[in-house]
Amino acid sequence: MKVPFVDLQTQFQDIRSEVLPKMEEVMRNSSFILGEDVSRFEDEFAEFCGVDHCVGVGSGCDALMWALKATGIGPGDEVITVANTYIATVLAISAVGATPVLVDCLEDTYEVDPDAVSRVITDRTRAILPVHLYGHPAEMDSLLSIAKEHDLIVIEDAAQAHGAEYRGTRCGSMGLVGCFSFYPGKNLGAYGDGGAIVTNDGTIAEKIRQLRNYGQSRKYHHDVIGWNSRLDTLQAVVLRAKLTHLTEWNNARHHSAELYCRLLKDLPVVLPIEISDCRHVYHLFVIRHNRRDELMASLASQGVYCGIHYPIPIHLQSAYASLGYPKGSFPITERISDEILSLPMFPELQPGQVEYVCKCIREFVA
Ligand SMILES: *Cc1c(COP(=O)(O)O)cnc(C)c1O
Repeated sequence: MKVPFVDLQTQFQDIRSEVLPKMEEVMRNSSFILGEDVSRFEDEFAEFCGVDHCVGVGSGCDALMWALKATGIGPGDEVITVANTYIATVLAISAVGATPVLVDCLEDTYEVDPDAVSRVITDRTRAILPVHLYGHPAEMDSLLSIAKEHDLIVIEDAAQAHGAEYRGTRCGSMGLVGCFSFYPGKNLGAYGDGGAIVTNDGTIAEKIRQLRNYGQSRKYHHDVIGWNSRLDTLQAVVLRAKLTHLTEWNNARHHSAELYCRLLKDLPVVLPIEISDCRHVYHLFVIRHNRRDELMASLASQGVYCGIHYPIPIHLQSAYASLGYPKGSFPITERISDEILSLPMFPELQPGQVEYVCKCIREFVA
């Protein structure tokens, strides 16, 4: 049996009759830039997230950058985020000229450690940028109260958490701005790059709406120095069709995760947890094992393809050597980076495939 890490082909076959005619319509009308499909998607995604505004942009990385820029963060400002994330989170901070300040993650959920955040606040700190990593919410109550106490902005990186919930509230809707990626493999993925910001703050939404489109309020009237970072109309068409399936797809991921947990629970592997009152959307199903590389190779030899998210923490990347965090700075992040393994996870994953993956793991650890 072969079990891919992610399977986008099966999903395309399931929705091709919904998506292709709509894409053809865009092409027939030559309405490629912004327009009705983008604004409809923005309304629909805002409603999905439980917020007032959504602005579609070019990518998740851009969404983070615009959120920081529109909230006035720039050179001289410090933004606290977690060492255990995808590099885009930190690149966005660098892109606006601010200084990334990294902290360690928690060992059980792998999310940012709120106590560690408290310890690195200085008088230059302007924002906290929690990441809802793997599709599990960060510890938002603590983070929001720390932010309130120190008068800091909270910008959520929800690129892996479309539909995830923290105490009944959707990820992305709790901070001042929430940022999403629609990279093809994300829970809500386009057929190319795309991203969005969501917020209840109308002023920030308008600012980003302007920034993403050359800083113009109307054609050829440029009020601010913007950039070209629009959500592509063809991608908006794909996203509108897919959004109607997102809850059902997230539920399917959840079912596969439950099956994995049931079949692996007696084995010497660390399983992901879902904190009570939270809804994990399992963008990734991450286990830990102390012979991770051997396990991964053994699975691959049996047709089971896994990933590692992420093998090198941010502070140990050459690009961020200048931040000056030596090896040993974030012990949990560093230790888990050698142990984490992302098992196959996508909505169309079949119970038989999960059983096969678990059988292969069982044989390896025996
Ligand atoms: C995917 C991702 C991003 C970046 O999104 P792009 O659309 O690829 O630019 C940012 N943060 C996290 C946590 C991600 O997983």
